[in-house]
Amino acid sequence: GGTIGILGGGQLGRMMAMAAAQLGYRCIGYAPEGDNVASDVCVDFFTKGWGDKAALAAFASKCDVVTWEFENVPLSAVAAIPENLLCPHPRALETAQDRIKEKRFVEALGGTPAPYAPVDSDRDFAGAVERIGAPGILKTAREGYDGKGQWRVASVRETDSVRFPGRPCVYEGMVDFLAEFSVIMVRSHDGEVRFWDSTANVHEGGMLATSTLPAPDVVTEQVGKAREIARQTAEALGYVGVLTLEFFATANGPVFNEMAPRVHNSGHWTIEGAATSQFENHIRAICGLPLGSTATRFETIELRNIVGLDALTAYEILAEDGEAHLHLYGKKEAREGRKMGHVTRVGPARG
Ligand code: ATP
Ligand code: MG
Ligand code: MG
Repeated sequence: GGTIGILGGGQLGRMMAMAAAQLGYRCIGYAPEGDNVASDVCVDFFTKGWGDKAALAAFASKCDVVTWEFENVPLSAVAAIPENLLCPHPRALETAQDRIKEKRFVEALGGTPAPYAPVDSDRDFAGAVERIGAPGILKTAREGYDGKGQWRVASVRETDSVRFPGRPCVYEGMVDFLAEFSVIMVRSHDGEVRFWDSTANVHEGGMLATSTLPAPDVVTEQVGKAREIARQTAEALGYVGVLTLEFFATANGPVFNEMAPRVHNSGHWTIEGAATSQFENHIRAICGLPLGSTATRFETIELRNIVGLDALTAYEILAEDGEAHLHLYGKKEAREGRKMGHVTRVGPARG
């Protein structure tokens, strides 16, 4: 065992710390003031700003390794932590924090993103819609999540209904996809790579609603190519830990959406559904332990997010279904469009 520092205080950190505890490690969290639900399960928690260099140094001095559960940790904060403690390497954050950078990065490795154009002004926006066409989506280049910071352009005529928000953006053509999936992989210090099965992911209002296995054939057919791109991305980043790439399965093959240099919502099913969860394998990878099997244990799996006020009745699931695995994140306030928990249901064991 040892002490693991986690930057960010959300549910991903909470579940990471729970997995770490099982392996005999202690976690210390660090995040600015907020509903830091990871703090419930960390042995210590620094509620300090990202600009507080002294606090970051004090935090790091207590840790054997420092990782993150949130990809928008400012690079200036990460720079206040000794580089030899950081895992994965922060170059992954730098790439993934900017939608344009991550698209170019994956494109250079042979991946195919949706048609896109950087947008830095009203004029760029009009030009991008003209060139790429509509429907499409204007997204802030940085800091969006759960579909926030995105505006859909239904048709060229309706471009006026969307305003350039005055921050660097990217305009993307709308992909006509058959299914959505993510490649979740773990890479060790030795460069060993393992993939979990790819679920079919369904989003509602830009937010993940469900992830299910088995995925439709189109996902199974395209996952091999997507994994190759993910593997090359991880290698090019010298990545250690869990890395996620989101894809659209289309008639022309997999289209890259975005990457998350961390454990991913669509992988929460791995806690009960895989031999080793994404959280445990992330801890194993960053601590230099052998990776665990990523094999799927059941014929069918469904992960469903509990969003907003649905959380108020979530415990009813326990009475309705004695085999449902309920996870609640302990958030203080149930707000519309806020991820409050998830429930995983599994079918028969795999033979
Ligand atoms: P996350 O919480 O996954 O980080 P995000 O805010 O970064 O979300 P995206 O992944 O860019 O958002 O988009 C959210 C969802 O919106 C996608 O999973 C997909 O369903 C839809 N979407 C986004 N971009 C496109 C596109 N170019 N074509 C079609 N659908 C899209
Ligand atoms: Mg995202
Ligand atoms: Mg996404």
